[in-house]
Amino acid sequence: MRGYAGKFLEIDLSNRNIKETKFPDEVLRDYIGGRGLATKVLWDRLGREWETVDPLGPENILLVLTGPFTGYFPGTKVCVSGKSPQSNGVIGSTVAGEFGIDLKCAGYDGLIITGKAEKPCYVFICDNQVEIKDASPIWGKKARETLRFLVRKSIEEIKDARPNYGEVKEPSILYIGPAGENKTRVAAVVAKYAHGAGYGGYGGVMGAKNLKAIVAKGFGPVPDVYDKEKTLSLAKGFSELNFEMERFRRWGTGGGGYFFGAETSSEPIRNWQNEWHNKESYKGEEFDKYWVKKNWGDFGCPTTCLKLAVLKTGRFKGAICDNPDYELEAYLGTNLGIFTPEENIYLSYVSNELGLCGIQGGAVLGLAAELYEKEILTKEDLDGIEPEWANVEAFTTLAEKVAFRQGIGDILAEGVYRAALKLGEMKGVDLLKYAVHEKGVAIGAHGVRSGKDFIAKNIAYACSVQGGDHTSTASLPLDQGSGELSTIMADSAVFCVFAAFGIEDIKMFNFYEAVTGWKLTKKEWYNEKALRILHLQRAMLLLGGPDVKWKPKADDDNPPRFWEPLPSGPYKGKTLDRKMFEESRLEYFRAAGWNENGVPKPETLRRLGLEDVEAKLKEVSLIK
Ligand code: SF4
Repeated sequence: MRGYAGKFLEIDLSNRNIKETKFPDEVLRDYIGGRGLATKVLWDRLGREWETVDPLGPENILLVLTGPFTGYFPGTKVCVSGKSPQSNGVIGSTVAGEFGIDLKCAGYDGLIITGKAEKPCYVFICDNQVEIKDASPIWGKKARETLRFLVRKSIEEIKDARPNYGEVKEPSILYIGPAGENKTRVAAVVAKYAHGAGYGGYGGVMGAKNLKAIVAKGFGPVPDVYDKEKTLSLAKGFSELNFEMERFRRWGTGGGGYFFGAETSSEPIRNWQNEWHNKESYKGEEFDKYWVKKNWGDFGCPTTCLKLAVLKTGRFKGAICDNPDYELEAYLGTNLGIFTPEENIYLSYVSNELGLCGIQGGAVLGLAAELYEKEILTKEDLDGIEPEWANVEAFTTLAEKVAFRQGIGDILAEGVYRAALKLGEMKGVDLLKYAVHEKGVAIGAHGVRSGKDFIAKNIAYACSVQGGDHTSTASLPLDQGSGELSTIMADSAVFCVFAAFGIEDIKMFNFYEAVTGWKLTKKEWYNEKALRILHLQRAMLLLGGPDVKWKPKADDDNPPRFWEPLPSGPYKGKTLDRKMFEESRLEYFRAAGWNENGVPKPETLRRLGLEDVEAKLKEVSLIK
């Protein structure tokens, strides 16, 4: 087997049992790694009782998986998964940083974490030394303090155990902040201070397991590849292509701050009441003056889309963070009525420190602000906070309350969908029309109303098995590079889509073959393997869970706000055409092999070898 370390770590936190496990080659060939393999493991182990599994209970399984591209493709990510506390389905949530490479160099392709630790703990991995350690000194601590402790302690430990290794660089760390510890559904699994796997709410899953962090250091080489020369030559070509993308290299997705809002009218403004703005003050160049480090990237990535920003003066002096990417510019900026880079950087810093997902956390702050604006929530309801648009101090206090589940924060910590339900019940009114989410997942900062956004259109979110995830949107035809089956490849192989712009599918399949030695044709991927993974995700989504009752069609629809005409801007008055949307949705269901309610047809499941899924869907009467 090439491209894989060949073994996984299975860690049961309840009984502190640690063992190595392997998957047969056929499973890796069919499910690859990352999102694909996570879906397979979750279905095999929890599928029969999926609806009874509490995502925040010890029975949930947290998976942190690499893929065969980890360590060879420019840049790197890992895929975090499990039963999602946001959608109750499975979401493959990726996070960049060096964790995947360190893990693979330590000899493991991934982690399967079960149970719940009795006391706060962290997992320490250094080559074949794997231990569960005490995290009490950092439980309750914010990001920087957590990292300081873990880096210092881990380096000391590595040096003690390996005195002849010389200088030891900091290990890779995945961790949670207070937002995760307090089991909020808006918490990210964080890496490198500002990278987060936020979709899915897996920070809360880690918190529910009393797992503060996972530290990994690998001193070994990455595993051998099948064809070294071809791997190198393809990787070189990808790197050169990335390097040529000057605009992206300079600002990363942060270059979109003005573009999406002003030109394509698809950026969330004040809880998505609008998607257009004309504030030139809020564009890539305006953020440049806060950079202290211009080109900062993940291992081997020439895109270097990260930029370190520091506020050196002013009322937020001392705030430090990765320069906000586009999603954070939007959700911790425009969506809260903020149009100044300085305030956006500050709120991103606050969010990082708390371990909130910038998208999910920002979305729920936006919801609270609109409900306050409409006088549905009063100052008293909000514990004396007045979240007027652009009131950074008020949003900071509210974010703290969310992360610590204090007062109103306890409800908002449930995320936009569940918070709108609970607040609606409290006030006796329907508030779901203000909650911009898809299947419980707040939507990425790309609106569909103008039709001009190049990421999200029409059925993009409504038909995606990952709900609001803007990196995994649905589109037709199924076998096109920008659709969900293609993203399943990125999340399973696992590579960063931002380091893969402009690279055609076929080259990805060639790279896969060069690394693993296994041939994978485009047809085989789109008609069989990716489709099988999609079906497993769809099945678990349909089975829902303790608090989601699946309503056919209604749950595969855009949120109500996306049906309101745009109130201003170049596309004023524009919204989606309902008839066209419904036709596209039906066409998507047909192409995927689902019935008119979006339920996989028995014959499709059988063709994909998923007879056990068919049996389960029959058992719960989703299939007659
Ligand atoms: S494109 Fe950006 S996020 Fe992706 S691997 Fe490169 S530096 Fe990291």
